[in-house]
Amino acid sequence: MAIRVTGYTARGLDVWHDELGHGGALVWAALAFAPRPDGTPNRDGIVLACPVAGCDSTSVHPIGGGCDPAGVQELAVRLYTRLKIGGAQDRAAALALVRARIATTDGDARWRLGE
Ligand SMILES: [Zn+2]
Repeated sequence: MAIRVTGYTARGLDVWHDELGHGGALVWAALAFAPRPDGTPNRDGIVLACPVAGCDSTSVHPIGGGCDPAGVQELAVRLYTRLKIGGAQDRAAALALVRARIATTDGDARWRLGE
């Protein structure tokens, strides 16, 4: 799982780096979407960078969630809401957008948030 979300804060989220046994806080602005080969952001993949000084590790989480569907889908919805991706003005809009994206990448049976 590498670098994963362990909780949310007023300013962002807490993450844990499994392999190295350390973690810390990330602000929303520190998150990014995975770049496509042409450099444009791929909104189907979220990059989490380890916040520990000197650790340059990153993890890319497909929004369908890999081995943690509910956790990563929640992260995607919060990030889409926060950054107003696709014009999402609130959580309900972000839920619909993320669910639609996951339906195209993984199939709707992958959806775990149930909202
Ligand atoms: Zn680390």
